[in-house]
Amino acid sequence: MQPISITSVRSWQDELRESITDPAQLLKRLALPDDLLDGAIAGDALFDLRVPEPYLSRIEKGNPRDPLLLQVLPQQQETQQLPGYTTDPLEENASNPLPGLIHKYTHRVLLILSGACAINCRYCFRRHFAYQDNQLGREQWQAILKYLQEHTEVEEVIFSGGDPLATPDSRLHRMISDLEKIPHLERLRIHTRLPVVIPSRVTPALVSMLASTRLSTVIVLHINHPNEIDEEVNHAANQLKQQNITLLNQSVLLRGINDNATVQKTLSKTLFAAGILPYYLFLFDPVAGAGHFDIPETEARRLAADMQASLPGYLMPRLAVEIPGKASKTLLTPLDDIQKSSGVIS
Ligand code: SF4
Repeated sequence: MQPISITSVRSWQDELRESITDPAQLLKRLALPDDLLDGAIAGDALFDLRVPEPYLSRIEKGNPRDPLLLQVLPQQQETQQLPGYTTDPLEENASNPLPGLIHKYTHRVLLILSGACAINCRYCFRRHFAYQDNQLGREQWQAILKYLQEHTEVEEVIFSGGDPLATPDSRLHRMISDLEKIPHLERLRIHTRLPVVIPSRVTPALVSMLASTRLSTVIVLHINHPNEIDEEVNHAANQLKQQNITLLNQSVLLRGINDNATVQKTLSKTLFAAGILPYYLFLFDPVAGAGHFDIPETEARRLAADMQASLPGYLMPRLAVEIPGKASKTLLTPLDDIQKSSGVIS
């Protein structure tokens, strides 16, 4: 790996610091009615509001139903306790052998690099995650390296979070250099929303770092609605694509935001135009405080059938659900009219 040039890093950190965290300020900036404030304060008390400026600029002013706003605006419904919605919906605590390391699937491990996010998505399945117990200090990192050296079945390391790209480049560089020295590791995957919500995070230094590692690098973005992709996001994606870094997208099916086949089809096409391939469309993970975003499986499968009927196969994300304890994600088949009428699938 080549050394990184710190001087070329743009101040994405400033944009991170200047994010909106005050519900009243958010409503004022977006010309939204004051009657949303009580609910926003109640939701914020459970999970902090956080919206960075580049994302805010894509939200339509005066529209309380804007699909980007609904992803970040705390709401009164978050205070409701619904049966079946838990603080650890994927039961990650059961696969957390070391602080900062989750080992659910045999050949890949997930590392919690940072508890920080550039945006707080209201539906996040880790909104209750114990980040304070999973901080990666020097000691914890050495323990993780030892674990990886001993677990020769692991081929892929996934940087996750929070948002792993909230980590400074110099630290990322050290971590990737350490991982490169473990011979059986082949791939590095980065799950991140930062290039979407603060596109300036894709600095020349970051791109060059990712382009020069011996590990094959895949970036999995998280984009739920086509309005999230603007010129800046396109530019950031292009910088990564030019270095042959694979870009995939995973999204979550969310009530009132993208539970519509037209929106989903537009999302797939807009992603492709930006050089990003649709990868997964997940059913909502039943996390406490966000049940109002949930969509029944049958409805999701009908929506997928509608998408499949008009999209080419390579633009069709895999509809999937994560079931705790299973060896992989569970793929769901689209529910088309023939299946419905024959009663094959209810
Ligand atoms: S981990 Fe991802 S989904 Fe969760 S709040 Fe952070 S950016 Fe949003």
